[in-house]
Amino acid sequence: MPNSEDNTLLPILPLEAEIPKGVDRRSFLMRGAVISAAMVLTGCERTPQQEAAAPPAAQPPKPKPSAMSADLNVVAQSKGPVMTVIDEFYKVGPGPSSSHTIGPMRITYDFYQRCTKLPADQLAKATGLKVHLYGSLSATGKGHGTERAALAGLLGKEPATINPLFLDELAANPTQPHPLKLGDKTFNLSLADVIYDAPKGDFPHPNTMTCKLLAGDQAVYELEYYSVGGGFIEWKGYQPPKKGQPKYPYSTMKELRKHAEDNKLSIPQVIMANEVAVSGKTEAEINAFIDKVSGAMVAIVKSGLAAPEAVLPGPIKLHTKASTVYKRAMDDKFQSDRAIALVAACALAGSEENARGHLVVTAPTGGSAGVMPAIVYALGEGGRKLPQEKIRQGFLAGAAIGYLCKHNATLAGAEGGCQAEIGVASAMSAAFIAAAFDSSPQVLENAAESALEHHLGLTCDPVAGFVQVPCIERCAFGAVKGWTAYMIASNEVETRHRVDLDTTIESMAETGRDMGAKYKETSEGGLAANLTLC
Ligand code: SF4
Repeated sequence: MPNSEDNTLLPILPLEAEIPKGVDRRSFLMRGAVISAAMVLTGCERTPQQEAAAPPAAQPPKPKPSAMSADLNVVAQSKGPVMTVIDEFYKVGPGPSSSHTIGPMRITYDFYQRCTKLPADQLAKATGLKVHLYGSLSATGKGHGTERAALAGLLGKEPATINPLFLDELAANPTQPHPLKLGDKTFNLSLADVIYDAPKGDFPHPNTMTCKLLAGDQAVYELEYYSVGGGFIEWKGYQPPKKGQPKYPYSTMKELRKHAEDNKLSIPQVIMANEVAVSGKTEAEINAFIDKVSGAMVAIVKSGLAAPEAVLPGPIKLHTKASTVYKRAMDDKFQSDRAIALVAACALAGSEENARGHLVVTAPTGGSAGVMPAIVYALGEGGRKLPQEKIRQGFLAGAAIGYLCKHNATLAGAEGGCQAEIGVASAMSAAFIAAAFDSSPQVLENAAESALEHHLGLTCDPVAGFVQVPCIERCAFGAVKGWTAYMIASNEVETRHRVDLDTTIESMAETGRDMGAKYKETSEGGLAANLTLC
């Protein structure tokens, strides 16, 4: 994105409220005073006497808590301080969905590793392995390619390093058996060993699966797993790994910002201190990880922009368009239009890579995997050319927002709808930009809040269960909205921002709980139900 300014398209807005024509100053000010008095008498600022006299306002019934089992760590975790660290949060793996491909592949890879450690006599009895998918994984797993990701993990392929062409081959040859050696035994596994089981039922999590090592039809070893969103996984009896205590404990944005302001630190500085304390790693190690993720995101955007136009796999027959949008936008005569289209094209590029099942980074999920790479590319080598140190600060700030959303709401479309994926990605991106431009903690919070607020209620209705429509364009809107949120936050009077991030995250959680199941990654409502495919 070019550096020079172009204001030709921007309207000039008054900075302060102006006195309307035809109204004299005295009556204008009197009216303001009357309105202020009325606010005191009737509005937010009730007198103590009024508080005492007023009957308690009828409270709307609180929505029922999430149907998730209280045993899950994602539920228990919301009680203490944020303990997530950056290399748990930004994960590299195959698209198109962190909860439906990266999570299941991490699960089956974990099961594979456990099987390699089983005693020889247990392995000697085994005749095969099976994976059962339940809930949303069963309802929309086919469109996400869950079965090929699950099989690849079971075959011992690691999510972060797998060659996506191997996944393409699995899909192209569904009946082909693939050898898996465990101890002295070799099992021949195919996609038929991944079973789409009950889509509805009383599961501990909407994304539940079981992995079994079988002797005939009897399990000699089995484990129930949960893909809890953003590529995070848990299993029955899961105990989170032991970690250090955060230097600046927080579970809300209010607490995080207070740490920053009291200690005269930026939000990225607070997060870095916590990363060191919780993970036990050095700053240099953490920065090296961030640089790796940053490099992966830039590579994803470049590869998506360079890919020739083609039709994506699946029944939608959707044409890719990132490269065309990018090329045409570069010819636009207005610099501001070029800037918006560049961010949108880069997000399309990242999301199309995800739809191809190529490697992506969860930020926070696979469905939203185009949003943050667009910002990284536009702030870095594709546009503003900010130094890598600023990009690192952006990653830390973006992670802070993602942590808070995970801690106090959810990152899974199957639990919270698309507000939990694109909405969070957009909020993370707004915070990223704010941190990269050295904004104050208040501006950073305002930017993230604004981006999330304007995704509240967004449903998840992927057509035919494929992460293409509305997901690909939605990434572009998430990125542009994130930038817009930063533009508003950095230009408004920061102390007048009316809504705080914690309230918006709480609203997202409540909205997600109230949202009908057909709008939560089941492909039973919205666009998924109404778009006619021919
Ligand atoms: S609609 Fe949103 S939440 Fe649902 S799969 Fe697409 S990107 Fe993810």
